[in-house]
Amino acid sequence: MRDADFFRRWMAAAAAAVEREADRLTELDSPIGDADHGSNLLRGFTAVRAALGAGAPDAEVPDTPGAVLQLAGRTLISTVGGASGPLYGTLLRRTGKELGDAAEVSDEAVREALHTGVGAVAKLGGAAPGDKTMLDALVPGVAALGTSYRAAGDAAEAGALATVPMQARKGRASYLGERSVGHQDPGATSSALLLGALADVADAADAPGGPR
Ligand code: ADP
Ligand code: MG
Repeated sequence: MRDADFFRRWMAAAAAAVEREADRLTELDSPIGDADHGSNLLRGFTAVRAALGAGAPDAEVPDTPGAVLQLAGRTLISTVGGASGPLYGTLLRRTGKELGDAAEVSDEAVREALHTGVGAVAKLGGAAPGDKTMLDALVPGVAALGTSYRAAGDAAEAGALATVPMQARKGRASYLGERSVGHQDPGATSSALLLGALADVADAADAPGGPR
């Protein structure tokens, strides 16, 4: 079972990955976007880290998995101006809502909730796999959760690489038409970071003597 701390550690690991890869995400967003994906997510996840950290004495302290993800999602929506803010915010909010108010959730519940969360991203953005967006990493990633968290991270990474030959049909990159071909999608790349961070946290939790 996974408790609120597990999801807090996931968000902290995601923030660390975004910090580490921010320059690369912005570079990927240069040829087919407006060169702000790294800075957008850095701003967003820095705020998530602050919101979930010790905080002010009267700050909201989420103590369930669902509450942690909903607060993280709301924070991304309110701090990220680009398209990715509302999309990632929706992913985390919807996933958190699906997890309900249980103090601990099973891996099966996490898998189902993330599946619903990714569905909400597809609905909000009107995109499908093959459109060269974050969904090209999120959809195969979440599908592989049935195997393991690591398999999900690896499938998302492969999905991000597979966006290179695609022509963008959604988002800013779609304005470029055929010129969007030959570049890796920044959002699919950050989605692979997000699911890779989840795999790292799960591996650490499942190691002998590790945190839950
Ligand atoms: P913006 O495009 O507003 O500058 P970002 O640069 O932060 O926002 O994010 C760009 C990423 O958002 C893209 O690489 C793509 O993966 C994702 N994206 C854009 N539009 C959509 C959409 N309609 N559905 C899903 N993902 C999208
Ligand atoms: Mg951008």
